[in-house]
Amino acid sequence: MSIKVLVSATLRTFTGRNASFLLDSKSVKGVLASLIEEYPDFAKALYDENDFLRSFINIYVNDVNIKQLQNLETRLKDGDTVLLLPAIAGGAPVESVIPQERRKEAKLDDTEIERFSKHLMLREIGVKGQKNIKAAKVLICGLGALGSVLAEYLAAAGVGTIGIVDFDVVNLQNLQNQILYGRRDLKRPKVMSAKDKIKGINQSINVETYNTKLEADNIKEIIADYDIVADATDNYKARYLINDACVLLGKPDVFGAIYQFEGQVSVFDSQHGPCYRCAFPAPPPSGLVPTCSEGGSISSLAGIIGSIQATEVLKLITGGGDVLIGEAFVFDAWNLTSSKVKIAKNDACPLCGLSPSITEVEDFDYEEFCGLKQDENEITVEGIAASVLAERISKGDRMTIVDVREPHERAINRFPNAIVIPIGQLARRQKELDPTIDTIFVCREGKRSVLAINTLREAGYTGPMYNLKGGIEAAKDVILPHEGAWL
Ligand SMILES: [Zn+2]
Repeated sequence: MSIKVLVSATLRTFTGRNASFLLDSKSVKGVLASLIEEYPDFAKALYDENDFLRSFINIYVNDVNIKQLQNLETRLKDGDTVLLLPAIAGGAPVESVIPQERRKEAKLDDTEIERFSKHLMLREIGVKGQKNIKAAKVLICGLGALGSVLAEYLAAAGVGTIGIVDFDVVNLQNLQNQILYGRRDLKRPKVMSAKDKIKGINQSINVETYNTKLEADNIKEIIADYDIVADATDNYKARYLINDACVLLGKPDVFGAIYQFEGQVSVFDSQHGPCYRCAFPAPPPSGLVPTCSEGGSISSLAGIIGSIQATEVLKLITGGGDVLIGEAFVFDAWNLTSSKVKIAKNDACPLCGLSPSITEVEDFDYEEFCGLKQDENEITVEGIAASVLAERISKGDRMTIVDVREPHERAINRFPNAIVIPIGQLARRQKELDPTIDTIFVCREGKRSVLAINTLREAGYTGPMYNLKGGIEAAKDVILPHEGAWL
């Protein structure tokens, strides 16, 4: 008779780093006894002083918790699998993540004692906690809406070293919810404006700027020097890349996301709980779910979610408090409701599970994983530049322009001479298109129109189709000014 026993990562320090065993036992209790026989120290981890199984450990037989079976007396049969998993209690109190030697070096001068007096008054932070904050090195990935809030509050709190990564420049749309920037920052690199703002709050903060895009070949070098990474990016590729690098380098990843009226925060720390891949094994297919820039979001939401992210960062720095490890905080601003949901560590996780297959970010194809790569067998969608389309419109070329945006988006600006067919109705309404002439599809950013073309192809439409490159955003200056269509 053979029973497969799997030991979760956090318990493996007691089993000589071994993740799985084949044992011959008739009950769960017998399995534990065999393990203890081989690894006597494991007894202390498994049982308390009254010989009760410690409550932070869950044991599953073929995915069923033994609490729903006969507890330790649960009988086993040949081929059964027993899994030892520490409970993801959520709200796990953690020790400060700042290394001891750096904490000791930090000193507060008189000005700092005055400046941070409201922190010093808090028993949970105090002088010791403020020194930890001064010694801390936090990297903010993405300087959009959430990154703005993180940068301002972490600077105000006195974080000693703040790293900021973004490759973008400030544009007018950013000013709706990216509170780091003002009118004067337009067209400036975000990292430069952010650095000025942080220095304006506290000149003694060491600000490291990375005016670059995070990629598999630079991320490890960038995050290596930081204690905590805050993910404030806006795309799936960056999210998986940051998560993976954090797991591989053993850094906590403080995650925040906003979309329309909803926000999420979680702390992914694979040493104490699940990672982002445990929670979301794969991203949604490209183009199916709009990003925040396509779907929009209410201005003040970033303030709420970014502030919670900043608070989680400060809790990790000072140690103590209930940290959102193994949980996600979900907030709905429109209905003013919130909830905390549990996220379990996934033993089959390819990154932090029992037998990981991802061991280097360089070896993983993030573009392909996130559906950003052109499939070689897929027929490419042909794009048309806004200037070319403008010329064809002015020459009076025969063609059909189809606007696939939603009604409330068209209320912002009409696209001249376009017929309106939302994506969901395209296949059904393809008879309205003339397959003998060109059809140009337009949407806000040129992503949904690609989806529209692929949808029609699948539905059997054979006429020539083109995608307006960059969407209406790119055509604004070329086509729309003559129309006076902007509100
Ligand atoms: Zn994982």
